[in-house]
Amino acid sequence: MTPLAAALARRIAATGPITVEAFMAACLADPEHGYYRGGDKLGRAGDFTTAPEISQIFGELLGLWSAETWRLLGAPTPVALVELGPGRGTLMADALRAIGRAMPQFRAALAVHLVEISPGLRAAQREALAAAAPTWHDDIAQLPDGPLIVLANEFFDALPIRQLERAGGAWHERVVTLADGALRLARGPVIADPPLEPGHRTAPDGGIVEIAPAARAVVTQLASRIVRDGGAALIIDYGPGASAPGDSLQAVRRHAPVDALAEPGRADLTAHVDFAALARVAVEGGAAAYGPVTQATFLVRLGLAQRLAVLLRNASGTQARDVASGAQRLIDPADMGNLFKVLAIGPHGRAVPPGFEFPGLAGGT
Ligand code: SAH
Repeated sequence: MTPLAAALARRIAATGPITVEAFMAACLADPEHGYYRGGDKLGRAGDFTTAPEISQIFGELLGLWSAETWRLLGAPTPVALVELGPGRGTLMADALRAIGRAMPQFRAALAVHLVEISPGLRAAQREALAAAAPTWHDDIAQLPDGPLIVLANEFFDALPIRQLERAGGAWHERVVTLADGALRLARGPVIADPPLEPGHRTAPDGGIVEIAPAARAVVTQLASRIVRDGGAALIIDYGPGASAPGDSLQAVRRHAPVDALAEPGRADLTAHVDFAALARVAVEGGAAAYGPVTQATFLVRLGLAQRLAVLLRNASGTQARDVASGAQRLIDPADMGNLFKVLAIGPHGRAVPPGFEFPGLAGGT
């Protein structure tokens, strides 16, 4: 048993079962034992690898997206370039390099703000981004006033979700309880009027649906900031384009799936991001939502092939093969291309942000 599992077992024994949401929140962000309170878990030697760690093209294209979006917004100055959950700082470093080349006016107008809870990853970001002199925040509520352009890659999947189970025509909270001293998932109390998405209504008896209160709250805050101060946000993550029933809670350690209850605090615990729900919340908050489109569609529209061609001109041998296969992984439908989606949020009445010109082509799962 991990130290967090023991602590949760004591808590459940004393005060009863806890919700899946409380369990996930503890696993990821418990002040003492939470997964993201520890050191750097990314990359080949860690637990999982993300797009910016696979190819520099990812961060570069997001930098170009930010620059073009800033221009379309009327080039507000000064502006905050914000990243939520910046990992090792790789994405932001690649983005800033591309911005500096493509639109030096934007580079000069922006200040970098990072929202990060992990002390270990903050240290990595401090190193990767020393020249950009970023400002760190624990929470998006602390971001400075004024226009902001926000990037979030694989941030929303790390926010706690609720699970509800349909049984006998009623909705029950899913909880974590104790059985023979071990943590177990179970059907909890009936919830009278749960905040379901329209796509959840088709759940069969015994079906599970997921609601992400924390993700909804972040999007509500982003939308109100964008409406008030101007700016835009780009959310990239894995999940379906449309809300649907299903249990997507998954734990990963050293690049392999593990039981979600087996190693609390030691394994990464995530859930699919419900993009339709986030778009709905953004629109309810007074903003415009674009997409989701698949990551493959988005990156190809932003010029992935052209950027790859330039990089290949300066590479040879294994380096060229690595560069090409990294770019391929980002857009391959069998890899990240289809499962990952991209959603943008902006003010009403502005040009469609780059990559979202034909929102009807989202496709994928
Ligand atoms: N965006 C990076 C890292 C993704 S991992 C990349 O693409 O490589 C998730 C990131 O979100 C980590 O940096 C993690 O520490 C951070 N994080 C997770 N939960 C958070 C929270 N509640 N508030 C702020 N940051 C959080």
